[in-house]
Amino acid sequence: MVEETIFSKIIRREISADVVYQDELVTAFRDISPKAPTHVLIVLNVLVPTVNDLLPIHEESMGHLFTVALKIARSEGIAEDGYRLIINCNRHGGQEVNHIHMHLLGGRPLGPMLAY
Ligand code: 5GP
Repeated sequence: MVEETIFSKIIRREISADVVYQDELVTAFRDISPKAPTHVLIVLNVLVPTVNDLLPIHEESMGHLFTVALKIARSEGIAEDGYRLIINCNRHGGQEVNHIHMHLLGGRPLGPMLAY
C-alpha cells in the first residue's frame, strides 16, 4: 500500500495551495518554501512515489510535466532568460515528499548545478 502525501490533498483541493495550473494529468502549485523568485512544483495527479516506481504507463504524464513546465515558464515570464527543472529521487537525491514532482525554478541566475 502506497502512502499518500500532502500533495494528494493539494491535488484534490482538500488543503490550500497556490495552484497555478491543473489538468487531468498534472497539478502545479507554488512551493511553500521557494528557493527562487519562481519555484513551482508540477506533480503527477496519480500517486507514484519516486522515479524508481515509474512504469511505461506513466510515460505520457511524465512527458506532460515538461510541456506544462514550459507553459508555466512562459506565463511567469522566465522562459527566455532560462530556468531549471529538477526531479529528486530518494535520499541521495534529496527527495522529501514521496509523490513524483518536478521543480520549476527561475527568475534569477541559479548558480552551479550542485551546491557541493
Ligand atoms: P523534494 O525535496 O521532495 O524534491 O521537494 C519537496 C518540496 O515540497 C520542497 O521544496 C518543499 O518546500 C515543498 N513542500 C512540502 N510541503 C509542502 C506543502 O504543504 N505545500 C507546498 N506548496 N509545498 C510543499
